[in-house]
Amino acid sequence: MSKIDWIQQEIDSLKSQGLYNNIRTIGSPQGAWLKVDGKQVLNFCSNNYLGLANHPALVSAAKKAADDMGVGPGAVRSIAGTMDLHIELEKRLATFKGVEAAITFQSGFTANLATIPALVGKEDVIFSDRLNHASIIDGCRLSGAKIIAYEHNDVKSLDEQIQANLKDYRRALIVTDGVFSMDGDIAPLADIYEVAKKYDILLMVDDAHGEGVLGKGGRGIVDHFNLHGKVDVEVGTMSKAFGVVGGMVAGKAVIVEWLRQRGRPFLFSSAVTVPDAAACLAAVDLLEDSTQLVDKLWANGKYFQTEMKNLGFDTGSSQTPITPVMLGEAPLAQQFSRELFEAGVFAMSIGYPTVPQGKARIRVMNTAAHSKDDLDKGLEAFKSVGKKLGVI
Ligand SMILES: *Cc1c(COP(=O)(O)O)cnc(C)c1O
Repeated sequence: MSKIDWIQQEIDSLKSQGLYNNIRTIGSPQGAWLKVDGKQVLNFCSNNYLGLANHPALVSAAKKAADDMGVGPGAVRSIAGTMDLHIELEKRLATFKGVEAAITFQSGFTANLATIPALVGKEDVIFSDRLNHASIIDGCRLSGAKIIAYEHNDVKSLDEQIQANLKDYRRALIVTDGVFSMDGDIAPLADIYEVAKKYDILLMVDDAHGEGVLGKGGRGIVDHFNLHGKVDVEVGTMSKAFGVVGGMVAGKAVIVEWLRQRGRPFLFSSAVTVPDAAACLAAVDLLEDSTQLVDKLWANGKYFQTEMKNLGFDTGSSQTPITPVMLGEAPLAQQFSRELFEAGVFAMSIGYPTVPQGKARIRVMNTAAHSKDDLDKGLEAFKSVGKKLGVI
């Protein structure tokens, strides 16, 4: 036995359980249609909500920035200095979101790893929604604080957990996803804020799937609930609706200043590249100029969900353009996804442990890049596969 044999055994075991992650290869730019494993298919998978990943304004901003400023940031910002482009992006993001200040990170994932351990430590407690994203969970673990999960989107459960536990700790943090990406439901942030206020606890929301989607012109969940100035920390990503890559934290100036001193992924890892930062700036320009793309995204989501219900599909409890198509057992969802692919539609099945047992589904990601004709083609494929497999 060599010392790495166990790894191959684990991989084989994943394969035999149907849990091995087969990653498809995309041979085209992101858009309504993709070339996947050599085949032209309708794209119902990406988080490219507004179609910005291949938008001409972003592409040309990235090119121009590379011509003017090169590509790499050189080194960690806190040691080797920070480029004016990154500072400009942070200022523009703060204005866009209507907050005092913003700071950017390499990704939404690292934004959570930076923020949570900077705000709480071993003597503290975190109240975390049971279904929070993996990067929130990892950020909570890294902090060393006691983690207490409350029931999903359940403000009463949150209140009970706080009441029972708060006294045993120095400081506390409430953290929740804004939009939960598996079901498309929205955290009841206004009610959560009332609880945070009642106990005077820091409140943090990770709005990765709400950034560029919720609120006026995509300003996010805080704007959606009109909670400006009330939520202490908003984490966001520029790798979904913004169509590029990068994370951000928006909120009070003192918290952003603290993250520049104590956010470890900020202190010990380089920033996004010059073309990334420039493309993100172009995305902010587009979002500030017009709500057209955000409106189109929502209109497409509504149309698709209505027509799916008319066909007889169960589309769950989504409040956003994310459309889960509930199928029950994982093998059925996997087969459904394969048949859709044969019919020219790329939509992934999601099963346990990402979602609970018996709640396997196909998740359709609607975007502003889809035309009505695209959506009709998708609906047609769902109808024929649904009939063939006896789902409708
Ligand atoms: C996607 C996602 C992230 C990670 O964002 P990246 O920028 O891709 O690292 C973090 N939090 C939530 C809730 C997400 O959905």
